[in-house]
Amino acid sequence: MTASGESGAPATTSDPDCVFCSILAGKIPSAAVRESERIYAFRDIAPQAAVHVLVIPRTHEYANAGEIASGDPELAAELLREAAAVAKGEGLAEGGYRIVLNTGHHAGQTVYHVHAHVLGGEPLGRFGA
Ligand code: IMP
Repeated sequence: MTASGESGAPATTSDPDCVFCSILAGKIPSAAVRESERIYAFRDIAPQAAVHVLVIPRTHEYANAGEIASGDPELAAELLREAAAVAKGEGLAEGGYRIVLNTGHHAGQTVYHVHAHVLGGEPLGRFGA
């Protein structure tokens, strides 16, 4: 369950039943967009916009935005910085884009490994019910 932490590397956790952990482990293929020591960004398998990238921490320990903001504010900030860097790298900065962090059942969250959706590349509909 718990991985590494030796040699100064940040400790990470992993859940064998989590699809994002399987992607991070290379057990499920993914289309990488951007990587850092603590963050991985890859294309959503069912894109909801012309550009749809998921940005996730390498650790499984936070299920949602509230948990990561409380548990590791610097990692939460890095997640948002990387999401903005993805948007810039995908050419979305000028036209604008949306960063979405679904939290819980009513928001439609299906993967309980915190992730930011970066959506753009075309005009986006208004969100809501
Ligand atoms: P959520 O609904 O906010 O939890 O977002 C989960 C996202 O993960 C959805 O947009 C899915 O399309 C996406 N997803 C699920 N499995 C995979 C996969 O294997 N590769 C890439 N994206 C995935």
